[in-house]
Amino acid sequence: MPETQRATTNNFGIPVVSDNESLTAGTQGPILLHDHYLIEKLAHFNRERVPERVVHAKGGGAFGELVVTHDVSRYTKATLFQPGAKTESLVRFSTVAGEQGSPDTWRDPRGFAVKFYTEDGNYDLVGNNTPVFFIKDPIKFPDFIHSQKRLPGSGLRDHNMQWDFWTLRPESAHQVTWLMGDRGIPKTWRHMDGFGSHTYQWVNADGERFWVKYHFKTDQGIEFLTQDEADTLAGNDPDHHRADLYDTIARGEFPSWTLKVQVMPVDEAEGYRFNPFDLTKVWSQKDYPLIEVGKWTLNRNPDNFFAQIEQASFEPSNVVPGIGFSPDKMLLGRVFSYADAHRYRIGANYAQLPVNAPKNQVNSYSQDGAMRYATNSPETPVYAPNCYGGPHADASLAGDEGLWAFDGESVRAGYIEHAEDGDFTQAGTLVREVLSDDERDRLVNNIVGHALGGVSEPVLLRVFDYWKSVDPDLGKRVEIGVREGQSRN
Ligand code: NDP
Repeated sequence: MPETQRATTNNFGIPVVSDNESLTAGTQGPILLHDHYLIEKLAHFNRERVPERVVHAKGGGAFGELVVTHDVSRYTKATLFQPGAKTESLVRFSTVAGEQGSPDTWRDPRGFAVKFYTEDGNYDLVGNNTPVFFIKDPIKFPDFIHSQKRLPGSGLRDHNMQWDFWTLRPESAHQVTWLMGDRGIPKTWRHMDGFGSHTYQWVNADGERFWVKYHFKTDQGIEFLTQDEADTLAGNDPDHHRADLYDTIARGEFPSWTLKVQVMPVDEAEGYRFNPFDLTKVWSQKDYPLIEVGKWTLNRNPDNFFAQIEQASFEPSNVVPGIGFSPDKMLLGRVFSYADAHRYRIGANYAQLPVNAPKNQVNSYSQDGAMRYATNSPETPVYAPNCYGGPHADASLAGDEGLWAFDGESVRAGYIEHAEDGDFTQAGTLVREVLSDDERDRLVNNIVGHALGGVSEPVLLRVFDYWKSVDPDLGKRVEIGVREGQSRN
């Protein structure tokens, strides 16, 4: 039946009398409580939002597929990475600190959260567009995010708070250097790389283990926005990145990325010049070159943004056989906190929503909870073990969980220092050996512009030291730029 001929119903399918007038006692009388359709409409409207994500609130996404083009089976038995495998996928790109309505073009890392609907269950690779992060221990995560968001009194964002935190935690220097550089504001989500960022474990069919890092290299080429371009777009077109992805896919132009990995045999980790589990460090590609895995393409927009993107849940705890965790403490913290965030935000049964549900059969013993609708047959026992044919755990199917050896007493300590570790080492390499002169100039300008945005004198002195530690010349240029800017203002 054409849309126009369909009768409006309430949420239970009962035809309603009016789309336009509520039921009143006479033409001027009060609205009557038994206008249950009006009440259903207003009450449901009040409940249209779920809590926005505390981090990565503003984003957008699409569906696609991963096709494996190269043979990495000697490193992992994961079915999705076997030669020729094709796996349906979902991505959600986002900014980190801004709220739901915030502009897409603020300087911020971008979330790059990928879900693969594999035949062994969902595999979620929940990364960013940078290979590193600001901190290396999850105990600092709430502090870090608080410092990037808003002051509790005024509700305003505050550069002083950001620099205060960054300079007091110099492990942030590598990520902040990246952030203040060109790649801190991608032109679109299509023009940025993605990284798993953490170190994960791969396990092959013989039980051999490898440490692995994931890189999604954009096939569109890296492109960025200058600070001025981004500021203009923030005012004129705050949904710039969301719209670009949607419109491009709607036109039938499907963006793609080449998935590559770095692989480290486990026995090389201890002697490597950087601690390979420290999220503020990369593994040099000169030591561990990129190995091609496949092509990841986005080819389908969501039909409903709320149902499929806002309610999409990504959780680093979702690893499939052939993939495991590592001693990266940030990863281990996220393995807890992401699933917990979804239980709070969407509800205990969020895994049943079509966008989150795996394509393979779920044989879990979880039951009940708010909004439960998927159920086992009444004959299936609700407990294990049982002698009535209920599912039973099978270690041979689950495969290796990617464990690693550790011993010693419980401690609260930093990472073991490797030969070339140090908070400023890799940030300095990026500045001196990777950036061109033009890129370095823009880096200085971006830092100076940001630091001039209300950073207090005691914090500014630490900012100069911070950048001089990254690179003495860069630090001097930042100091001169800030002092000149102050004298102009
Ligand atoms: P390589 O010379 O092998 O790689 C340099 C890397 O830097 C490339 O991945 C390149 O990405 C990337 N890059 C280029 N321009 C920028 C920029 N403006 N902002 C951020 N990244 C950029 O060197 P190494 O692997 O030995 O690493 C040297 C330094 O490069 C590191 O200290 C780190 O700061 C940075 N880096 C390293 C990465 C890694 O995984 N090893 C990844 C990204 C950066 P592309 O190929 O897309 O141009």
